[in-house]
Amino acid sequence: MNLPNQSELPSPVIERHRLYVLQASCLLDTPPDATLDRVTELATRLFKAPIALISLIDEKRQWFKARVGVEVAQTERKDAFGAYTILRRDVLVVPDASLDPRFKQNGWVIGEPNIRFYAGSPLRTRSGVSLGSLCVIDTKPRYDFDESQQDLLTQLAEMAMDRIEALRSIAFVDPPTRLLNRARFSDDVRAIFDERRNGQISPSHAVLINVVPLGYLDETSVSVGIVAADRLMAAISVRVERALVDIRPVYRVDYARFAVFVRGGESAAMRVIEAALRAFDAPLVVNQIPVDLSPTVGLVDLSGIDEHTDVLRALMSSSEVARRARVPFRKFAKRMFVAQERTFFILNTLPQALHDEHQLSLVYQPRIDLRTGRCVGVEALLRWSHPLLGDVSPAEFIPLAERTSLMPALTDWVMDNALKQLAAWQKAGISLNMSINVSVLNLEQRGFVIRYASLLQTHGIEPARVELEVTESALAQNARSVTENLRKVTSMGSTIAIDDFGTGYSNLSKLQLYSASVLKIDQSLVRRVLETQHTRILVEGIITLAHKLDYRVVAEGVETPEIYETVADWQCDEAQGYHIAKPLTAAMFESWHSDYMQYII
Ligand code: C2E
Ligand code: MG
Ligand code: MG
Repeated sequence: MNLPNQSELPSPVIERHRLYVLQASCLLDTPPDATLDRVTELATRLFKAPIALISLIDEKRQWFKARVGVEVAQTERKDAFGAYTILRRDVLVVPDASLDPRFKQNGWVIGEPNIRFYAGSPLRTRSGVSLGSLCVIDTKPRYDFDESQQDLLTQLAEMAMDRIEALRSIAFVDPPTRLLNRARFSDDVRAIFDERRNGQISPSHAVLINVVPLGYLDETSVSVGIVAADRLMAAISVRVERALVDIRPVYRVDYARFAVFVRGGESAAMRVIEAALRAFDAPLVVNQIPVDLSPTVGLVDLSGIDEHTDVLRALMSSSEVARRARVPFRKFAKRMFVAQERTFFILNTLPQALHDEHQLSLVYQPRIDLRTGRCVGVEALLRWSHPLLGDVSPAEFIPLAERTSLMPALTDWVMDNALKQLAAWQKAGISLNMSINVSVLNLEQRGFVIRYASLLQTHGIEPARVELEVTESALAQNARSVTENLRKVTSMGSTIAIDDFGTGYSNLSKLQLYSASVLKIDQSLVRRVLETQHTRILVEGIITLAHKLDYRVVAEGVETPEIYETVADWQCDEAQGYHIAKPLTAAMFESWHSDYMQYII
């Protein structure tokens, strides 16, 4: 046996830390690196040695990150000269290994490649942890490896270490938290699946801790500033790391999502989950403000997943399902994929759409004044032609976007393009009002009105030409920021319309509280207005009462001439619907408009 003397064994605590740092450096079992290969080649030339190695000392093996003159990629740790080198700060020189009691029985000394001379310099991180060594080896003894040569070897080792530090910060470490990143997570999942395929024991479960919902940190940045949001993020990651102190590594796979692998079955995974959830029992304190967070956790049994690429998706699905069900954790089941596949896909591809002029577009649906028959305005409606999914309805993607931080950018895009179009029509002598749909998220934003005003100015549009449509559910939330922003918009001269009235929340008694002046009765009611006595009474009643509250009323979903006549008889002010025109592209609208106006006059 070639075990080192007791005095030459690393202390268990230091060794555990060293192994953790080595693992977190993401070097083991990675493909060759050209720079490190060059360092070993340079070493063989400089020292005229047949062998040079960059060897990393893992728990039970040494693994070569770069090697010249050796075929194998790793050896057992007991055969590693480097296991001694890492215990020192200076160069370990062994002039003749066959005479050295530490090495004379070593497999590489008595057998191939028959090492005689060895000189190795430890590869130490900036914080002084030795990951392995850079060494040169000869098959003949050498007694002339002097101080200047040792110095040279040390310098080469430092160069190698610089490269290693650079690699680990570029590729796999998330700079602010120093945790492993998503790329590393994906790599490790792949390695785990390979291990499993080869019959090796590998982690049984993966756990994802989703600390805050999507968009939460952006909202935090908006309300308390980016510095406080960063502090919150740092505090979150410290909590997670402390809660999972026995589990390494911890990956930060997304903004506030942390993942770990667990060995030892579902009960072990449940213990990890409990610890993670308990860690957030007490509020975090940021800028003296206590922040209560309730993370949700996704649990994945890795044996139930066929493709390694599905693991992260399964984790995200299950934690998101948990969040929506308002429970602390959910175990992944395959059916979650089917429903969420499209959702994820849509959410993940929406940011690209914002930058691709071929994907998003606007269509315009005319609105007719029922007294004069004239087209008084259009509603801008968003369209998304997805490169893979085809046309995706705004009814599908807008509610999804509202769960993300993309909504402000999306509305910005719509406002900018709709106002640009309106300006073009004005220039062409077509006088119209433009209705733009905005989400409650926009109205909660502080800078919303400023942005709106600046877009009006950019495009030279009078505020009175524009109406913002807000759903009643948005207004019903009654948030101060929303009320305040709506008040500012109306004081500029624009109008606010309550959209989709008659679905869900409808509360006529509240109409007087809002700063809106237009009420749009939802198409689902209007379309069926002639079908039942009930909808008849309802729609007519809404029109009458809204008028009493000084609202202008628009019937959406006017699909037939009969409906058109009926709502006109009820003194409804405006109509919009397929009977008049479907939503049209700008060019189609222009030709529709010129035909229509001729017919009116
Ligand atoms: P909405 O604002 O109530 O828009 C009216 C919807 O009714 C449009 O659906 C329109 O195509 C449809 N519609 C119009 N006339 C008729 C009709 O006679 N019969 C029937 N069956 N349907 C009719 P679309 O374009 O699919 O939009 C759906 C919803 O998506 C919109 O409802 C709006 O809530 C949202 N949306 C669309 N564009 C935007 C946008 O730019 N921003 C925001 N925040 N939401 C948008
Ligand atoms: Mg609308
Ligand atoms: Mg509507």
